Amino acid sequence: MKPVLVVTGGSRGIGAATARLAAQSGYSVCLSYNSRPQAAESVVDGIVAAGGDALAVQADVAVEGDVVRLFALASTLGPLRGLVNNAGILERQARVEAMDVQRLTRVFAVNVIGTFVCAREAVHRMSTRHGGAGGAIVNVSSAASRLGSPGEYVDYAASKGAVDSFTLGLAKEVAAEGIRVNAVRPGVIRTDIHASGGEPGRVERVKAAVPMLRGGEPEEVAQAIVWLLSDAASYCTGSLLDVSGGR
Ligand code: NAD
Repeated sequence: MKPVLVVTGGSRGIGAATARLAAQSGYSVCLSYNSRPQAAESVVDGIVAAGGDALAVQADVAVEGDVVRLFALASTLGPLRGLVNNAGILERQARVEAMDVQRLTRVFAVNVIGTFVCAREAVHRMSTRHGGAGGAIVNVSSAASRLGSPGEYVDYAASKGAVDSFTLGLAKEVAAEGIRVNAVRPGVIRTDIHASGGEPGRVERVKAAVPMLRGGEPEEVAQAIVWLLSDAASYCTGSLLDVSGGR
């Protein structure tokens, strides 16, 4: 039976690229999405057409009941061995004075609490302490956690800072239970997320500030994520891996 991997936000961008690569690497992939079911189904169809196994589940990671249901469905595929905490949101660019509590609550609910609750469900199933066979978690943070994103989205950057701290703490908490926990910190990657920040052309604008002078592709982040999931990274835990073209 293939090991099962949950990829949150697997319908588009970095999550979709990760789901495809992980399926090629031998995982049975359960990908979640929040909206646009057609996009999720098209990722599943592509994986199945290539000979892989995948399932799409609608689940808002900010809703605890949705997350519990997601992991229950994923577990019907086989033993859970991995989680990619990828779902994340960015609100429109703004200065701090324009950030109301509704916005802050939503950003932290998805990017931080969603990440925590998904990790909780995964640890419960993978930890040798609970009879699991171990596994790996990769959290998708952001280079913004170091850069701070002033004048754009300091809320988003702070939420990713929380993801970094959570990665460091959880890695130590479950290290002796067969679970490795790492994070990737992408720089500016060509996905739809920039449109939600109000600037679809952001990659072109900021690429001059990237030492490699280009934006990254979702597949380049997926390679790092799948490596961290794999046994090739067997002694890596608590690592925050920048995938940012040197930024
Ligand atoms: P995207 O907008 O293309 O995809 C986001 C995915 O998350 C979608 O599948 C969407 O359905 C899902 N999602 C959003 N809200 C959700 C919710 N409440 N519940 C469940 N799923 C939800 O974005 P992307 O660029 O591929 O982003 C993926 C991750 O990478 C995010 O965590 C993002 O913060 C991070 N990231 C992206 C960049 C970049 O430049 N694209 C840079 C650094 C970090």
